[in-house]
Amino acid sequence: MSAPGEALFAPGFKDTPYWWDAAPPEVTTPRAPPPRADVAIVGSGITGLNAALVLARAGRSVVVLDAEDLGHGASTRNAGYVGRSLKHSFGDLVRGHGVGYAVKVYREMQAAFDAVVERVRDEQIECGFKIRGRLVLTHTQRQYDDLAGELALRKTHLGTDFAMLPRGAVRGEFASDLYAGAALIPDLGAIHPGLYHRGLRERAASAGATLIGRTPVDRIAPIDGGGFDVATARGSVRARDVLVATNGYTGNLLPWLQRRLVPFDAYMIATEPLSPALMDRLLPTDRTYIDHVHDIISMRRSPDGTRILFLWRTGTRPTNARDKGRQLWLDAVRIIPEIATLKLSHSWTGRCAGTFDLWPHIATHDGIHFAGGYCFAGVPMGTYLGQKAAHRILGRKEGETVFADRSFPTVPFYRGNPWFVPHLMTWYGLRDRWASR
Ligand SMILES: Cc1cc2nc3c(=O)[nH]c(=O)nc-3n(C[C@H](O)[C@H](O)[C@H](O)COP(=O)(O)OP(=O)(O)OC[C@H]3O[C@@H](n4cnc5c(N)ncnc54)[C@H](O)[C@@H]3O)c2cc1C
Repeated sequence: MSAPGEALFAPGFKDTPYWWDAAPPEVTTPRAPPPRADVAIVGSGITGLNAALVLARAGRSVVVLDAEDLGHGASTRNAGYVGRSLKHSFGDLVRGHGVGYAVKVYREMQAAFDAVVERVRDEQIECGFKIRGRLVLTHTQRQYDDLAGELALRKTHLGTDFAMLPRGAVRGEFASDLYAGAALIPDLGAIHPGLYHRGLRERAASAGATLIGRTPVDRIAPIDGGGFDVATARGSVRARDVLVATNGYTGNLLPWLQRRLVPFDAYMIATEPLSPALMDRLLPTDRTYIDHVHDIISMRRSPDGTRILFLWRTGTRPTNARDKGRQLWLDAVRIIPEIATLKLSHSWTGRCAGTFDLWPHIATHDGIHFAGGYCFAGVPMGTYLGQKAAHRILGRKEGETVFADRSFPTVPFYRGNPWFVPHLMTWYGLRDRWASR
């Protein structure tokens, strides 16, 4: 099919996230930070706000500073999948480190998932959270068998449930003939990321945290006798502790951190509303759908069930939102041909961060705390490690986590310019295509 023209875009098409229609980032009046705080947090995403909430509830004075409007980052731009995904399979961890370690790590992945469930429930955040299960689609019998083996191993050691669906059963779940089969993981879910973020913002502010947007932190310098001077163009805050929660938007504030994170762009589209009958034909079971490859596609219904949201081409070079939207629409049509009848209402992008060892990290370097590098799983991991970072600052035992115990590697000559990501994604794409033959 040739690239579609302007007719592809619905009237009122937007190049901002679909989520922002209901919950845009919060515009705050730029102002000087308070002169003193117990904790300064750089970054107002899921990580920063979860930490702020725990710290403020523990009676600490907290200031959250963001370079842009509150929630400008990936936390309000993502697909809203809440899973237990780690880039290292359970089987690989068993083979490399033994069953005990694999179980320990995957129990924490479950704890990260539970952290979202508990946050939403305990704080009564209305964010369309549903647990309808995830369908992991496989292109070949070999991928299907690999996935079945991995999930069976997890069931044996962790008790996590799953069902394998052969090719003939996929159509009842997902209107595509491309796939050789799928695994259904029934207890995974999805949220509306904009509403989740808005709920976190409101709860953190009512717990007493000061949230300031449009105020980039330019420098963090240690003070003689303890604490840090956190400098912005509008003034400084003297803080006993600092948490840097900038993930994919990390700049040169801390060169040590910049050398360890690999930022990459991700892209999404939303269609105009479909008729309920068409939606029931295309995504009848309202799950989250991904494929079992490195360069994943993800597709889901919007939380109100009216639109299809689609993500792919992660790590490719940015173009304008319309061109990227055209590419993604063509990809989506290749997977589900009936999408060809739909126009696009939104096409947007956001920045994530990977790490060289493909593990998420929480760390303290030169007394400054950091959590991030979630490798595309920041909804649960940002919620979880944001809270862990707060517990570490409070000196609590709950701050312990396996993600703090691992070394946090960089590679020689890397200074934070991720020029190689598009090449890496091309390589992953070729490997995926080879594995899908
Ligand atoms: C398109 C897309 C789809 C995704 N889908 C999923 C998904 O379905 N499920 C999932 O689990 N994860 C997903 N992710 C990843 C997830 O969104 C991120 O991992 C997570 O939001 C990171 O949250 P954060 O709070 O650490 O950082 P962010 O939300 O990115 O916030 C970082 C903030 O730091 C601020 N900042 C940077 N530098 C400074 C400075 N010097 N001073 C002040 N502020 C600064 C930025 O302005 C930004 O607001 C997706 C990401 C994208 C982009």
